[in-house]
Amino acid sequence: MSLKKNQSLCRRHFCLCCIGSALTASGVWLSPARAYAEARNIVDLIRDDAAKAPIKVHKLRGDVSALEGSGGNIAVLTGADGKVFIDAGITASRSRILEAANSLSRDPIKHLINTHWHFDHTDGNEWLNAEGAAILAHENTHKHLLTAQRVEDWDFNFPSPPLAAVPTEVFSSQMTLQLNGSTLALKHYDPAHTDSDISVTFTDADILHAGDTYWNGIYPFIDYSTGGNIDGMIKATEANVAAVTDKTIIIPGHGQPVSNKAELTEYRNMLVAIRDNVAKLKQQGRSLEDTIAAKPTATFDAKWGQFVITPDFFTRLVYHGV
Ligand SMILES: [Zn+2]
Repeated sequence: MSLKKNQSLCRRHFCLCCIGSALTASGVWLSPARAYAEARNIVDLIRDDAAKAPIKVHKLRGDVSALEGSGGNIAVLTGADGKVFIDAGITASRSRILEAANSLSRDPIKHLINTHWHFDHTDGNEWLNAEGAAILAHENTHKHLLTAQRVEDWDFNFPSPPLAAVPTEVFSSQMTLQLNGSTLALKHYDPAHTDSDISVTFTDADILHAGDTYWNGIYPFIDYSTGGNIDGMIKATEANVAAVTDKTIIIPGHGQPVSNKAELTEYRNMLVAIRDNVAKLKQQGRSLEDTIAAKPTATFDAKWGQFVITPDFFTRLVYHGV
C-alpha cells in the first residue's frame, strides 16, 4: 500500500479507516466481506491511488535509493550490471517509476527481487520483465504467483498472474549476489507477514530492506491466508533488530521509507505489547468482539493506528494468532 497516513484513501467517500471498526449499532461485528462489499475493494483502491500518486526518490547511501509512492517501498541499486529493483510496485505507476529510475542513472533494469508475493510488491513484475529484468524471489513467492490466491482478510481473490510475472530464479533459505560492485544478501524469514518473506541486505552500503515484516510507524497487515502470524512477525522483527546497528538504514515495506534501529525497536515493542494484551484477553475467554471493545491497542493508536490497518483491524489480526 503506497498511501501515506491520512492520504487520499481516507478522503474518499469510502473510508478504509472505517473497515476495521465496522461494528454495527447493536455491537455486531460486520464480517470483512460485508464491510468491503459496501465499498470498492481495497486492492482496486490501492491500484487507483498508485495510478495518480507521484513517485518520491530518496537517495540513501552508495548506489542505493528508495522509491516511494507505488505499493510497497522499492529499493534500487544502480550500476554497470544494470539496475537492481527490490520490489515492483503497482503497474499503473510504470511511467512514473521509469522516470524516477532514469533520474538516478540510465542503466537498464536487469534484475528484480520480490520481498514476498503480495500484489503491492509484485504487480509490476510483468512490465519490469518486459524491460529486461530477470525476477528472483523465495520459492514460496514463486509458488503463490503460479496459481490464483485468496487473501481472506482483504476478501480478495487474485487470479494467477501472467507467466512473465513469475520469478524464474528461486531460493529456499539464503542467497548472496554480487552486482554493481555490491554484495546483496538475501535471507528467508520463518513465516511472519506471509510464508514468502525475505530480507535484502546491501552489505557495503549497510542498508536492510525488511519487506513487509516492518511497517514504519503504522500497524502492519498479517496475511494468515498464506502463512503469516503475529508471533512470526515478532520473531522476524527480533531478527531485524539483531541484524542492524545504529548506522544501518532500514527500508520498511510500508511507511516512511528511510528508517533506523530506534524506530524498528519501537515497532518491536509495540508488537510485543499488543500481542501480550490481546493474548491475556483471549485467555480470559473473551470473544473477538469483547477483545476489540476492550481496546488492547489504545496506548498505541494515536501513533500507529492512522493508516489502512486500523486499531480494530489490527486487534482482529493479532487475536487470530494468539
Ligand atoms: Zn505484503
